[in-house]
Amino acid sequence: MPLENTNKLPKTVNPKAVVFDLDDTLYDERQFVSSGFKAVAQYLAGSYGLNNQKLFLQMQQLLCEEGRGRIFDRVLLDNGLDSSLVSLLVEVYRSHKPVLEFYPDAGEILRDLKISIPYLKGSNWESAPEIARDLKFEIKLGLITDGAAGVQWNKIKALGLEDMMDIIIVSDDFGTECWKPSPVPYQRVMDKLGVVPESCVYIGDNPEKDFVTARKLGWHTVRIWRPGGMCFAIKKDLLYEADFEITDLQQLKPILLNLWTLKEDG
Ligand SMILES: [Mg+2]
Repeated sequence: MPLENTNKLPKTVNPKAVVFDLDDTLYDERQFVSSGFKAVAQYLAGSYGLNNQKLFLQMQQLLCEEGRGRIFDRVLLDNGLDSSLVSLLVEVYRSHKPVLEFYPDAGEILRDLKISIPYLKGSNWESAPEIARDLKFEIKLGLITDGAAGVQWNKIKALGLEDMMDIIIVSDDFGTECWKPSPVPYQRVMDKLGVVPESCVYIGDNPEKDFVTARKLGWHTVRIWRPGGMCFAIKKDLLYEADFEITDLQQLKPILLNLWTLKEDG
């Protein structure tokens, strides 16, 4: 007995946009920090004959004990090097090509959502994977991320996001005044993809800036809680928090179904 909608192609006239934040949403930002420390340790070891591994461990320890801020100043001081080298170390850190991996749930949901698109668009609906059969609408994938543009693009390239996303907005490309919570990146996503606000959902980890403007514009919002992430301890008032809270990106699927499919079928 075939499924009820086996031969029914989905509506594609009104695509939906599932738009993600990057740092601590799709990958653990501590990976970037660690990767940057390795690059700086390698530079100092190569230039001044110091022990690479020892320098790396020293930076990790300073991060744990004192947080970000003056790590490179301390490393230079402790190793008898000139403090004026600090700006060079910051440049090495920022410009290095990081080695990054998605959180497992992020890699899975991006693959699931992406893999559904060819089926939704066309010919082979009968063999479509479960998620495509369930969602029944075309999804555009997007990214909005803040941070120094060069650094963010290096992260995007390291994760291979350019091949997965329909739109990538590095807000810094438009000026620091366009960082979240500026409406500019959200508006640009809608303009470029041709989607209305209620067809957009933003998924992020930071209630300081990820959701307030998205909500004002009429987007749906989802907060992902990432233990160990920099925003894990932050709780804001309702205006700044998201409509939904999840601990695993696989939990997005029923949320998307509730937001869109059920209403349109009903
Ligand atoms: Mg984030």
